[in-house]
Amino acid sequence: MLDCAIIGGGPAGLTAGLYTTRGGLKNVVMFEMGMPGGQITQSSEIENYPGFYQHGKTGMDFMNTWQEQCFAFGLKHEMKKVERVSKEQEHFIVTFEDGNSVKAKTVIVGTGSTPKRTGIKGEDEFWGKGVSTCATCDGFFYKNQEVAVLGGGDTALEEAHYLSNICSKVYLIHRRDKFRAAPSTVERVKKIDNIELITDTIIEEIEGDMMGVTGVRLKNLKTGEKSNLKVSGIFIFVGHNVNNSVLKDENGNFICDMSDWGQVIVDLNMKTSLKGLYATGDMRIEAPKQVVSAAGDGAVAALQVISYLQEEG
Ligand code: FAD
Ligand code: NAP
Repeated sequence: MLDCAIIGGGPAGLTAGLYTTRGGLKNVVMFEMGMPGGQITQSSEIENYPGFYQHGKTGMDFMNTWQEQCFAFGLKHEMKKVERVSKEQEHFIVTFEDGNSVKAKTVIVGTGSTPKRTGIKGEDEFWGKGVSTCATCDGFFYKNQEVAVLGGGDTALEEAHYLSNICSKVYLIHRRDKFRAAPSTVERVKKIDNIELITDTIIEEIEGDMMGVTGVRLKNLKTGEKSNLKVSGIFIFVGHNVNNSVLKDENGNFICDMSDWGQVIVDLNMKTSLKGLYATGDMRIEAPKQVVSAAGDGAVAALQVISYLQEEG
């Protein structure tokens, strides 16, 4: 029986692995369906992780050293996709895609969330070259430049506000004239001088060249009018899919409490409503969706696991 099964090998899972093994747990396995590292390995540059400030280093460069450090203290990695986690009496069963399973005394889940894509022409081509889903990560690259934000939910409006403090102008493009975001947020954003709302409008194409995005081609859905907008960045906020399927039982019911938006409800110790199960990183409620916070969650959960095992035996 494992002391702890860690599901997901992003910043949250790797940090949980480091802290559990360095904290003395002998039998810890991290199940990651791909190469460890998580979403940040897709990033062309990371410059907001304290203590790591090397111009030109990619997310992949950044995460490579994490793996080396975590495995040095005894964390084991198995490249397996977890199908589900269930609890029987006092222990957990982690079942894999291939039907095999392992038993574990505790489980830390950190399977992340995936920003939804739109399928707009040019989105894939310029992904990471002007197309972004993270204002905190990439906003600074567009300092004093004009950018566009797509979406009409809370995330789009809040991130447009964030970007308005960095960029010279933010065009907020939304396909309807009613916003899904909270009315108070909409009112706040409307008062910001350098945010221009472009409603009833879709992006037909994201245009660019060798250097990246140069603009977007717009279509007004009410008038049919087409226009071009010159921007060097486009931030897409059209919702997230939380990777929460491992927490569903065979009947499709969640094994712990979840928010209406599919995020795992945790307390400040990353404890879920199910004893011995912890959730970390982008998949938890109110996640800041940053590497530094995901790593913090992993450390918190690991320390809790160590205390839990000491108390429960
Ligand atoms: P993830 O990194 O998403 O890791 C989850 C892992 O779980 C993945 O490796 C996945 O393969 C695995 N997994 C999922 N389901 C299963 C399963 N069923 N079985 C086994 N394994 C599974 N943050 C910053 O702080 N600064 C930045 O500059 C920055 N830039 C970014 C740029 C891009 C392009 C992207 C996409 C994100 C960026 N972020 C940045 C956000 C940051 O990457 C995330 O907040 C962080 O990676 C979340 O960590 P996590 O461990 O919670 O989840
Ligand atoms: P969301 O509420 O689902 O909003 C997504 C937005 O993207 C909608 O305006 C939607 O348009 C638009 N959209 C979806 N697909 C699109 C496409 N293909 N092309 C163009 N536009 C598209 O997502 P979210 O903003 O990420 O929020 C997710 C949840 O988290 C929400 O419940 C939100 O309230 C919550 N949240 C809360 C806070 C907060 O309380 N401070 C902050 C952030 C998020 P339509 O409106 O036309 O469907």
